[in-house]
Amino acid sequence: MSTFSSNAQQAQQSTSKINSATTPLQQSTSLKNDTRTTLIGNQDIRRIYKMKKNILDRELVKEFRDISRCKSNLESYEKYYQAYVKFIIKNEFYFTDLILKKWRLDILIKIDSKDYIVSSPDLSLDKENTRLSRGKYEDIDTLAMSIRDTLWDMVTIYSGKDCPITQNDELRYIKIIYKDNSSKILLECARCGWIEDTDGNEYKEPGGKVFPVNKMEIAEYI
Ligand SMILES: [Zn+2]
Repeated sequence: MSTFSSNAQQAQQSTSKINSATTPLQQSTSLKNDTRTTLIGNQDIRRIYKMKKNILDRELVKEFRDISRCKSNLESYEKYYQAYVKFIIKNEFYFTDLILKKWRLDILIKIDSKDYIVSSPDLSLDKENTRLSRGKYEDIDTLAMSIRDTLWDMVTIYSGKDCPITQNDELRYIKIIYKDNSSKILLECARCGWIEDTDGNEYKEPGGKVFPVNKMEIAEYI
Protein backbone atom coordinates (compact mmCIF):
# COMPACT_ATOMS: atom_id res chain seq x y z
CA MET A 1 0.00 0.00 0.00
CA SER A 2 2.84 2.36 0.82
CA THR A 3 4.05 1.96 -2.77
CA PHE A 4 0.69 3.08 -4.14
CA SER A 5 0.41 6.17 -1.94
CA SER A 6 3.96 7.26 -2.66
CA ASN A 7 3.22 6.83 -6.37
CA ALA A 8 0.17 9.03 -5.99
CA GLN A 9 2.27 11.64 -4.22
CA GLN A 10 4.84 11.57 -6.98
CA ALA A 11 2.09 11.91 -9.54
CA GLN A 12 0.69 14.93 -7.72
CA GLN A 13 4.08 16.54 -7.54
CA SER A 14 4.73 16.00 -11.21
CA THR A 15 1.27 17.34 -12.06
CA SER A 16 1.90 20.56 -10.19
CA LYS A 17 5.21 20.97 -11.99
CA ILE A 18 3.45 20.61 -15.32
CA ASN A 19 0.71 23.01 -14.28
CA SER A 20 3.11 25.75 -13.33
CA ALA A 21 4.72 25.65 -16.76
CA THR A 22 1.62 25.56 -18.94
CA THR A 23 -1.30 27.74 -20.02
CA PRO A 24 -4.72 27.11 -18.38
CA LEU A 25 -6.06 25.11 -21.35
CA GLN A 26 -3.06 22.83 -21.44
CA GLN A 27 -3.21 22.49 -17.67
CA SER A 28 -6.49 20.61 -17.67
CA THR A 29 -5.31 18.31 -20.45
CA SER A 30 -2.10 17.52 -18.61
CA LEU A 31 -3.98 16.81 -15.40
CA LYS A 32 -6.38 14.42 -17.09
CA ASN A 33 -3.62 12.54 -18.86
CA ASP A 34 -1.55 12.36 -15.73
CA THR A 35 -4.36 10.95 -13.59
CA ARG A 36 -5.15 8.32 -16.19
CA THR A 37 -1.54 7.22 -16.46
CA THR A 38 -1.28 6.95 -12.67
CA LEU A 39 -4.37 4.72 -12.44
CA ILE A 40 -3.09 2.34 -15.09
CA GLY A 41 0.31 2.33 -13.41
CA ASN A 42 -1.12 1.32 -10.05
CA GLN A 43 -3.21 -1.43 -11.60
CA ASP A 44 -0.12 -2.82 -13.27
CA ILE A 45 1.84 -2.67 -10.02
CA ARG A 46 -0.87 -4.69 -8.27
CA ARG A 47 -0.87 -7.24 -11.09
CA ILE A 48 2.91 -7.55 -11.07
CA TYR A 49 2.89 -7.95 -7.28
CA LYS A 50 0.37 -10.77 -7.52
CA MET A 51 2.26 -12.46 -10.35
CA LYS A 52 5.49 -12.30 -8.40
CA LYS A 53 3.76 -13.89 -5.44
CA ASN A 54 2.15 -16.32 -7.88
CA ILE A 55 -1.33 -15.28 -6.82
CA LEU A 56 -3.83 -15.45 -9.62
CA ASP A 57 -6.05 -12.41 -9.86
CA ARG A 58 -9.51 -13.26 -8.49
CA GLU A 59 -11.16 -11.10 -11.10
CA LEU A 60 -9.44 -13.09 -13.82
CA VAL A 61 -10.65 -16.40 -12.38
CA LYS A 62 -14.16 -14.99 -12.05
CA GLU A 63 -14.12 -13.82 -15.65
CA PHE A 64 -12.89 -17.26 -16.68
CA ARG A 65 -15.67 -19.05 -14.76
CA ASP A 66 -18.24 -16.68 -16.22
CA ILE A 67 -17.48 -18.06 -19.69
CA SER A 68 -19.12 -21.39 -18.86
CA ARG A 69 -21.88 -19.68 -16.88
CA CYS A 70 -23.00 -17.54 -19.78
CA LYS A 71 -25.80 -19.26 -21.71
CA SER A 72 -25.09 -17.59 -25.03
CA ASN A 73 -21.51 -18.93 -24.96
CA LEU A 74 -22.92 -22.42 -24.56
CA GLU A 75 -25.20 -22.26 -27.59
CA SER A 76 -22.62 -23.97 -29.77
CA TYR A 77 -19.09 -25.33 -29.60
CA GLU A 78 -18.06 -22.59 -32.00
CA LYS A 79 -19.32 -19.87 -29.66
CA TYR A 80 -17.82 -21.57 -26.65
CA TYR A 81 -14.44 -21.87 -28.35
CA GLN A 82 -14.49 -18.23 -29.44
CA ALA A 83 -15.39 -17.07 -25.92
CA TYR A 84 -12.08 -18.49 -24.67
CA VAL A 85 -10.18 -16.94 -27.56
CA LYS A 86 -11.69 -13.56 -26.69
CA PHE A 87 -10.86 -14.03 -23.01
CA ILE A 88 -7.22 -14.83 -23.76
CA ILE A 89 -6.77 -11.91 -26.16
CA LYS A 90 -8.47 -9.51 -23.75
CA ASN A 91 -6.21 -10.61 -20.90
CA GLU A 92 -2.93 -10.51 -22.78
CA PHE A 93 -1.30 -9.06 -19.68
CA TYR A 94 -1.51 -12.50 -18.07
CA PHE A 95 -1.39 -14.61 -21.22
CA THR A 96 2.06 -13.50 -22.26
CA ASP A 97 3.77 -14.87 -25.36
CA LEU A 98 5.71 -17.20 -23.10
CA ILE A 99 2.55 -18.62 -21.50
CA LEU A 100 0.78 -18.87 -24.86
CA LYS A 101 3.67 -20.81 -26.39
CA LYS A 102 4.21 -22.99 -23.34
CA TRP A 103 0.61 -24.25 -23.52
CA ARG A 104 0.33 -24.05 -27.32
CA LEU A 105 -2.43 -21.50 -26.94
CA ASP A 106 -0.73 -19.29 -29.53
CA ILE A 107 -1.82 -21.80 -32.18
CA LEU A 108 -5.24 -22.55 -30.71
CA ILE A 109 -6.30 -18.90 -30.69
CA LYS A 110 -5.17 -18.38 -34.27
CA ILE A 111 -6.78 -21.29 -36.09
CA ASP A 112 -10.11 -20.84 -37.81
CA SER A 113 -12.05 -22.82 -35.23
CA LYS A 114 -14.99 -23.60 -37.49
CA ASP A 115 -12.67 -25.66 -39.70
CA TYR A 116 -11.47 -27.66 -36.74
CA ILE A 117 -14.31 -28.17 -34.28
CA VAL A 118 -15.38 -31.81 -34.42
CA SER A 119 -19.00 -32.91 -34.62
CA SER A 120 -19.06 -34.69 -31.23
CA PRO A 121 -16.39 -33.25 -28.93
CA ASP A 122 -15.36 -34.97 -25.73
CA LEU A 123 -17.07 -32.34 -23.60
CA SER A 124 -20.73 -31.66 -23.08
CA LEU A 125 -21.68 -27.98 -23.17
CA ASP A 126 -24.44 -28.27 -20.56
CA LYS A 127 -21.99 -29.81 -18.08
CA GLU A 128 -19.20 -27.29 -18.56
CA ASN A 129 -20.25 -24.97 -15.78
CA THR A 130 -20.24 -27.80 -13.22
CA ARG A 131 -17.00 -29.26 -14.54
CA LEU A 132 -15.09 -25.98 -14.39
CA SER A 133 -16.50 -24.76 -11.08
CA ARG A 134 -14.66 -27.61 -9.35
CA GLY A 135 -11.24 -26.65 -10.67
CA LYS A 136 -8.71 -24.77 -8.57
CA TYR A 137 -6.82 -22.16 -10.50
CA GLU A 138 -3.88 -21.11 -8.40
CA ASP A 139 -1.63 -19.63 -11.04
CA ILE A 140 -1.70 -18.62 -14.68
CA ASP A 141 -0.23 -21.98 -15.74
CA THR A 142 -3.12 -23.91 -14.17
CA LEU A 143 -5.60 -21.64 -15.90
CA ALA A 144 -3.80 -21.79 -19.25
CA MET A 145 -3.61 -25.59 -19.01
CA SER A 146 -7.31 -25.85 -18.30
CA ILE A 147 -8.18 -23.67 -21.31
CA ARG A 148 -5.79 -25.63 -23.50
CA ASP A 149 -7.49 -28.90 -22.54
CA THR A 150 -10.95 -27.45 -23.13
CA LEU A 151 -10.01 -26.08 -26.55
CA TRP A 152 -8.28 -29.29 -27.58
CA ASP A 153 -11.33 -31.30 -26.52
CA MET A 154 -13.32 -29.41 -29.13
CA VAL A 155 -10.87 -29.90 -32.00
CA THR A 156 -9.39 -33.33 -31.33
CA ILE A 157 -9.72 -36.10 -33.87
CA TYR A 158 -8.77 -39.39 -32.28
CA SER A 159 -6.85 -42.02 -34.15
CA GLY A 160 -8.50 -45.13 -32.73
CA LYS A 161 -5.08 -46.29 -31.48
CA ASP A 162 -4.08 -46.44 -27.83
CA CYS A 163 -0.86 -45.00 -26.41
CA PRO A 164 1.88 -47.64 -25.99
CA ILE A 165 2.98 -46.00 -22.72
CA THR A 166 -0.21 -44.98 -20.92
CA GLN A 167 -2.40 -47.64 -22.41
CA ASN A 168 -5.89 -46.30 -21.76
CA ASP A 169 -5.25 -43.07 -23.62
CA GLU A 170 -6.24 -42.88 -27.24
CA LEU A 171 -3.72 -41.09 -29.45
CA ARG A 172 -4.92 -37.95 -31.20
CA TYR A 173 -3.92 -36.60 -34.56
CA ILE A 174 -1.69 -33.54 -34.61
CA LYS A 175 -0.02 -31.68 -37.42
CA ILE A 176 3.51 -30.37 -37.06
CA ILE A 177 4.45 -27.41 -39.21
CA TYR A 178 8.19 -26.92 -39.61
CA LYS A 179 10.10 -23.70 -40.11
CA ASP A 180 10.22 -24.21 -43.89
CA ASN A 181 6.38 -24.51 -43.87
CA SER A 182 6.37 -28.21 -44.64
CA SER A 183 4.17 -30.28 -42.39
CA LYS A 184 3.59 -33.77 -41.13
CA ILE A 185 0.65 -35.55 -39.53
CA LEU A 186 1.54 -37.41 -36.35
CA LEU A 187 -0.17 -39.17 -33.46
CA GLU A 188 0.20 -37.83 -29.94
CA CYS A 189 -0.79 -38.89 -26.45
CA ALA A 190 -2.29 -35.94 -24.60
CA ARG A 191 -1.41 -37.44 -21.24
CA CYS A 192 2.23 -38.49 -21.53
CA GLY A 193 3.40 -36.65 -24.64
CA TRP A 194 4.33 -39.80 -26.62
CA ILE A 195 4.44 -38.98 -30.33
CA GLU A 196 4.57 -41.47 -33.19
CA ASP A 197 4.37 -41.22 -36.97
CA THR A 198 1.50 -42.70 -38.95
CA ASP A 199 3.46 -45.96 -39.33
CA GLY A 200 3.64 -46.34 -35.56
CA ASN A 201 7.34 -45.46 -35.10
CA GLU A 202 8.34 -43.22 -32.22
CA TYR A 203 8.81 -39.67 -33.45
CA LYS A 204 11.99 -38.00 -32.26
CA GLU A 205 12.76 -35.52 -35.02
CA PRO A 206 13.08 -31.81 -34.36
CA GLY A 207 9.81 -30.19 -33.46
CA GLY A 208 7.79 -27.49 -35.09
CA LYS A 209 4.52 -25.77 -34.31
CA VAL A 210 1.83 -28.19 -33.23
CA PHE A 211 -1.62 -27.75 -34.76
CA PRO A 212 -4.79 -29.75 -34.42
CA VAL A 213 -5.79 -31.60 -37.58
CA ASN A 214 -9.10 -31.27 -39.34
CA LYS A 215 -11.00 -33.92 -41.28
CA MET A 216 -9.95 -32.65 -44.68
CA GLU A 217 -6.27 -32.74 -43.77
CA ILE A 218 -6.55 -36.27 -42.46
CA ALA A 219 -8.29 -37.35 -45.65
CA GLU A 220 -5.40 -35.88 -47.68
CA TYR A 221 -2.67 -37.55 -45.66
CA ILE A 222 -4.03 -40.95 -44.77
ZN1 LIG B 1 0.53 -41.79 -23.28
